[in-house]
Amino acid sequence: MSPAEQPGPALKRARFAEEEKEPDWFTEQDDSYEEYIPLKKRRQMEEQETVKRSGAAAPHPAPVDAAAEPLLDDDGEEPQVKESLLVRTAKARKDQPMETDAQKRLREEQDMMRNITSRTALRGVKELATGVVYTRSMKTGWKPPLKLRQMSEDEHEQVRHGFHIITEGHNLPPPILSFKDMKFPAPVLQHLDEKGIKRPTPIQVQGLPAILAGRDLIGVAFTGSGKTLVFALPTIMQSLQEESRMPIMKGEGPLGLVVCPSRELARQTHEVIKGYTTALLQAGYPQLRSLLCIGGIDMRQQMDEVRNGVHMIVATPGRLKDLLAKKRLTLDLCSYLCLDEADRMVDLGFEEDMREILSYFKHQRQTLMFSATMPMKIKAFAESALVDPITVNVGRAGAANLDVIQEVEYVKQEAKLVYLLECLQKTAPPVLVFAEKTKDVDDIHEYLLIKGVEAVAVHGGKDQEDREQAIDSFKGGRKDVLVATDVASKGLDFPNIQHVINYDMPDEIENYVHRIGRTGRCGKTGIATTFINKNQSESILLDLKHLLKEAKQRIPPVLQVLHDPLGDLEEMAAASGQKGCAYCGGLGHRISECPKLELQTRQEAHKKKDYFGAGGFGGEM
Ligand code: ADP
Ligand code: MG
Repeated sequence: MSPAEQPGPALKRARFAEEEKEPDWFTEQDDSYEEYIPLKKRRQMEEQETVKRSGAAAPHPAPVDAAAEPLLDDDGEEPQVKESLLVRTAKARKDQPMETDAQKRLREEQDMMRNITSRTALRGVKELATGVVYTRSMKTGWKPPLKLRQMSEDEHEQVRHGFHIITEGHNLPPPILSFKDMKFPAPVLQHLDEKGIKRPTPIQVQGLPAILAGRDLIGVAFTGSGKTLVFALPTIMQSLQEESRMPIMKGEGPLGLVVCPSRELARQTHEVIKGYTTALLQAGYPQLRSLLCIGGIDMRQQMDEVRNGVHMIVATPGRLKDLLAKKRLTLDLCSYLCLDEADRMVDLGFEEDMREILSYFKHQRQTLMFSATMPMKIKAFAESALVDPITVNVGRAGAANLDVIQEVEYVKQEAKLVYLLECLQKTAPPVLVFAEKTKDVDDIHEYLLIKGVEAVAVHGGKDQEDREQAIDSFKGGRKDVLVATDVASKGLDFPNIQHVINYDMPDEIENYVHRIGRTGRCGKTGIATTFINKNQSESILLDLKHLLKEAKQRIPPVLQVLHDPLGDLEEMAAASGQKGCAYCGGLGHRISECPKLELQTRQEAHKKKDYFGAGGFGGEM
C-alpha cells in the first residue's frame, strides 16, 4: 500500500488558477525567504528525531535491539567493529539499571494501553479499505511574519515555556503573541477588540499559527481558555480565502465543518462564527454563510441556505449524519474538520458516528480536535485520524482550572436541598447547580422556585425550545440560578459565573473538571462547592482527593482519612510522566485499577456474548 497524495479539494474546483493573485490579507509579498538546510544536516536531524521518538515510546528498549541498531545502519558512513553477541548483552545488562517495582508496573501499564488502543482507528471506512494514507499536512497560503521566522527555535521555545505551552510534533510553527501578527484582516481584529479580546490566550498563541499553517492539531487546554477561537478563526479565514479566489456556487460547500457533542454548544459556536462573518461583511468583505445543523430545529428553511452554497457548518453528529446519508449535504469540498470536546464525543458514544462522517470526505482534510481533557485512550484513537499532528497542551490535560477555589463538603442525602439553599448565599448570582440525575434537577428546580429563587433548569428530558429558553434567560441575566445535568457543562460558555455547586459528585473525574470549569473563566476567580457523601464510590473520591491536592486546595477531613492503596503513585507518575490513570485520566488510581476500563471491558464481553447468543444462526433452540 503506497502512500497516496490526493489532490486537495481546491484543485478539484477547475476554475481555480494557481497563479491568481491571492488576497493580500493572507500572504506577504515582501519575502519568500526559507532557510536552506543541507541534506546531510537534514538527515542528522531526522535521525535525532527518530531516536528521540523511539526513546519516548519505549523507555526500556530491549538491550539486544539497542545494540543491534548499528548493524542495520546501511549507509556505511561509520563502519563499526563487530562485537560478539555475548559481550554486547553483558554490556547492555550492565548499562541497564535494575527495574524497580514501579517501573515494572509501568511497563505493564504500557502494554495494557497498547492493547486497548490498537484495535480502533478513527478513519473513514473507505480510507481504511483502500489503504489511502496521507503523509503530508495541508497547504495554506499563510506564513508567520518574517520577524518570527527569523527567530531561532530556542527563542520560540522560550516563549512557549513562558506561557506553559507544551507541544509535541515536528516543524512547529512559532507561537505568536498578537492577533495582528497572525494576519487577521482589520474587521476581525476590530471585532476581537470589541469583545474585549486584546491578546491571545496561551492555547491561541500556539494553536492559531499551527492551524493557519494547515497543520492537524490536538488542542488541550482547560475550560474557558478560549479554544473556540482557535478553530473558528482559521475556518473563517480559509472560507474567505476560497471565496475571494472563487465564489462558492449554488449547492456547494461546506468548506469547513465543526462537530460538537451537544446542541447548545453547537449553537454557541455558530454564534461566535456568525459574529466574525457579519463583521467582515459589514466591512465590505464577501459574504460567508454558516449553517447550524442540529437536531430539534426545522431544517427546511436551512436547507435553502445550503442550496445557495454554504461555507461553514456547525453540527451535532446525529443531524449531520442524517443529512449526509440523505445526500442533502456533501463533504466533497470540505477540507477542514474540527471536533470540539473530542473526548466527550467518544465518551458519549459518538465514535461510530464520527467514523461514518469521516467516510463522506472525498479528499484529505485538515483535522483538529479540542478538549479540556484528553486521556491517553482517546488521544491514541484521535491521532489515528490526524496527519503529522501537533499536540498543544496548556496546563496538564485533565487538570482543573487553578482560578477556581474548590470546596468539598460532606452533606447527608436528606440534608442536601436545605444546605443547597444556604450555599447559594455564598456568592452573588449567577450560580450553576449540577446534578447527575434528571429527577434531581427537577426536584432542585421545584424546591428553589418554592423558596422564591429565580431558577431555571435544563436536562436531556426537556424539549429543545425549553432548553434554549432557559439558557437564554440565564445567559441574559434574567435568571439567577441554572440547574442542569452535565448536558450544560460541556463547553458552554456562561460569562461571569460566580459559583458552581455540584449537588453530587459526578461518576467521572473529567465531568467534575468540566463542571467546575464553568466558573473562573478567563482569569477571573470563581468558587466551586461539591457535596459528597457515602453514596460516592471510593475510587472517584480518591481521584477527587488527588485533584484537590494537585490544585493546592484544602482537602476536607473525609477525604484526608481515605486510605490510599497506591503509595507509590507519585513515584510512578514521576517515572512515566503520566499522572494518574492513562485510560480515563483519573488521578487517584492507575490504569490497572481503572473502574471505567473494567466496566467497559465487561460491557464489551457482554456484547460479544449477545452477538452469538442472540439467536442469529442458532435461533431458539
Ligand atoms: P473553551 O472552549 O476553552 O472552554 P471558550 O472558547 O468558550 O473557552 O472561551 C471562553 C470565553 O473567553 C469566551 O467568552 C471568549 O469570548 C473569551 N475569550 C476567548 N479568547 C479570549 C482572549 N484572548 N482574551 C479574553 N477573552 C477571551
Ligand atoms: Mg469550548
